[in-house]
Amino acid sequence: MSIHDKIKEAEKIALRGEKLNQNQIIELLEISPSSIEMQELGESARRISTIASQNKGKVWTAIGLDNHPCKMNCKFCAFGEKWQTSSDFNTWSEEEIMNSASKYIDDGATWVTLRTTEHFNINDLIDIGTKIKNKYKGSYKLVANTSEVNAQNSMRLKEAGYEVVYHAIRLREGIDTPFDIKERERTLTSINHSSLDLAFLVEPIGIEHSNSEIAELLLKSMTFNTQVSGAMARVPVPGTPLYDLGALPEMRLAQIIAVTRLCAGIDVPDICVHPPSKQALNWGANVVVVENGSIPRDCASSKNEWQGFDILTANNWFKECRYELK
Ligand code: SF4
Repeated sequence: MSIHDKIKEAEKIALRGEKLNQNQIIELLEISPSSIEMQELGESARRISTIASQNKGKVWTAIGLDNHPCKMNCKFCAFGEKWQTSSDFNTWSEEEIMNSASKYIDDGATWVTLRTTEHFNINDLIDIGTKIKNKYKGSYKLVANTSEVNAQNSMRLKEAGYEVVYHAIRLREGIDTPFDIKERERTLTSINHSSLDLAFLVEPIGIEHSNSEIAELLLKSMTFNTQVSGAMARVPVPGTPLYDLGALPEMRLAQIIAVTRLCAGIDVPDICVHPPSKQALNWGANVVVVENGSIPRDCASSKNEWQGFDILTANNWFKECRYELK
C-alpha cells in the first residue's frame, strides 16, 4: 500500500470512530516531517479535527501552585532536588491563585488547571478548587493536575467542582522517572471509575523516543477513555540529565499531533499541543496551553504567562489557523 493509501485508510478509520493499530501509527510516524506526504497527513488530520472538535479552538490554562525541590528527581524536571536548577522555591497564596484563576476565566479559558508537585496536600487542592468554583461562575472546567489519586479522592475532587483530572504515564516511566507504571494505572482507573474526565497527553517527547514507544503510549492512553489527548514535547532544562539531548523539532511535534488526531478519531474532541505550535494547529490540534506560576519546564516561577504566550495570542493563532473561538 502506498503512503497516500495508508493516509486515506487512516482517515476512513478515524471517521468511523475506530482506532488505528500500532503498525498503522508507526507507519505514519515514519513519514519524513518535511515531505509532501506529511503535508497530506497533516491536512487529513485537520479534516478530522474540524469534525471532532466542531472546529472550536480552546485554551487550556494551567496555574503552577508550588515549586519545591522534589525527591522524585525525574530526569527532565526543573523541580528535581538533585539537579539544583532553582532556588526560587514558593507556594502561591490563596489570593494569588484566585486572582490568576479569575483572570483566565474572564479571558475565556475552557479549562483552568491547578497544577501541583507531589508535595501539595490534596485537602488544600480540594479546598482551593471549592473556593474557585463557588466564587467564579462560567462555562470553564476546573482541572486537577496533581499526584496519584485514589477512588475516594477522585470522588472528593468531583464533589469540590473539578471536572477533569490530568494524569499521564510518562514515556520511559520507571527509567527517566522513579514511578511505577502500575501505580499510574491505578490512578487512571480511579479516574475512569469516577465521573471525572481524563486528560492524558503523550509526554515528555524527546528526539530519543522511537516511533514504537510513542505508538505504544498513545494506544495505552486511549484505553483509559481519554477526553483530551495530544502531545507534549520535553523542554530541555539546563542542569537536568536529559538537557543535552536537546529539543524535539516543531515539525516532528506537529507530525505526532497529526497522527494522534487520526488515531483518536472523531470520538475524542480535543487534541492539545504543548508547547504551542501553529504547525500543529494546522495539522489537527485544537487546544493550546497558557500557563503561569511554577512550571516544571522552567527554573523560575512567574505571574506572567510562560514564554509570553497568553490567551489573546492563542486566540489570534486559532483565527489564523481557521478555528472558531469556543
Ligand atoms: S515531574 Fe513531578 S514528580 Fe517528577 S521531579 Fe518534577 S515535580 Fe517531582
